[in-house]
Amino acid sequence: MLKKGNKLYSILTGSCPRCHEESMYLDENPYHMGKIFKMHEKCSHCDLKYKIEPSFFYGAMYVSYGVGIAFAVAAFVIANLFLGAGLIETFIAIIITLVVFMPVIMRVSRNIWINMFIKYDAKATSKSLNS
Ligand SMILES: [Zn+2]
Repeated sequence: MLKKGNKLYSILTGSCPRCHEESMYLDENPYHMGKIFKMHEKCSHCDLKYKIEPSFFYGAMYVSYGVGIAFAVAAFVIANLFLGAGLIETFIAIIITLVVFMPVIMRVSRNIWINMFIKYDAKATSKSLNS
């Protein structure tokens, strides 16, 4: 089970990497394309500033490259090995997968990126700590 305190929880849900208490994003649904990169300035629970430095999230592009490959490999395995699709069909399946999951890939990449720099801190959930 995915629980708070696990990095995967923050990565998959897009919650604050430090306290896991709330979403970093204004709109949790990545398919609302206009808002895909709209994030809160900071966490209202632990006061963490998400944009650690200017253009911090540019680094997420490197991560999205890897995440994209992971999705492509998954599409390849499913289409080619499980469904027995030919080379062309497999290729098309990979393209469609990447396009369809693009918003998810972008979001997950940002989540992975910020989680590489910020550790979960259970104590950070309490507001009194920051007073
Ligand atoms: Zn937080």
